Amino acid sequence: MSRQPLLAGNWKMNLNHLEAIALVQKIAFALPEKYFDKVEVAVLPPFTDLRSVQTLIDGDKLLLRHGAQDVSPHDSGAYTGDVSAPMLAKLGCDYVVTGHSERREHHGETDETVNRKTRAVLKHEMTPILCVGEPLDVREAGDHVRHCTSQLIEGLKGLKQEQVARAVIAYEPVWAIGTGKVATSEDAQEVCAALRGALVDKYGSEIAEQVRILYGGSVKSSNISELLGQGDVDGALVGGASLNGDEFAKMSAMA
Ligand code: PEP
Repeated sequence: MSRQPLLAGNWKMNLNHLEAIALVQKIAFALPEKYFDKVEVAVLPPFTDLRSVQTLIDGDKLLLRHGAQDVSPHDSGAYTGDVSAPMLAKLGCDYVVTGHSERREHHGETDETVNRKTRAVLKHEMTPILCVGEPLDVREAGDHVRHCTSQLIEGLKGLKQEQVARAVIAYEPVWAIGTGKVATSEDAQEVCAALRGALVDKYGSEIAEQVRILYGGSVKSSNISELLGQGDVDGALVGGASLNGDEFAKMSAMA
């Protein structure tokens, strides 16, 4: 089965809404529409930029997709500072990241929290980008495959088969995020293949073959082709390099 590649730009906590508009315009200008048949391209700005980005994308009928970097597991209520899935759906979000290692690390998110957030995203008809990945000590102990498959299975707990088929998974080794240390294409393929294998075991091959599995961690135009050339790597989640419009457009054209 052929899966459409996805390139998603995680802006993290960067760019105000005016800078966000400028970056989306730059990407749109640098990336001819013909590429969108081949690859799906999404930007994931901070919450405060979403309305501006949505207005620009809708107004100019851009083929770019947009989404958020986090979500509350609750639909509404006394959760000061949080943003819910219905709010993100109303802003036209296609994607929401769940379980990014920076949220697991800085906000103490457990697999259970990540699972509740993932379910909230799917309940409101958006697509989760569920991140899994091992820290350096786990890799050095040779336990990375078990670590990542466990995060995957826990993150998807309780989902229906058709919801799993719609989900996107991102393998992001923690030691490769923002460090400039990219995993080799063999490292990426090893874990992405193991993740698909775990999906086969749990949900069957028909479902597992539909799930897109991305690699993330210091991806840039100089290494994207080799990473995406691997059989189980269906795209990339890009952090730092997605803040440069020309570079992100270049990567999209190569995906
Ligand atoms: C990320 O934050 O998801 C990421 C992959 O970051 P970077 O590309 O900067 O390593």
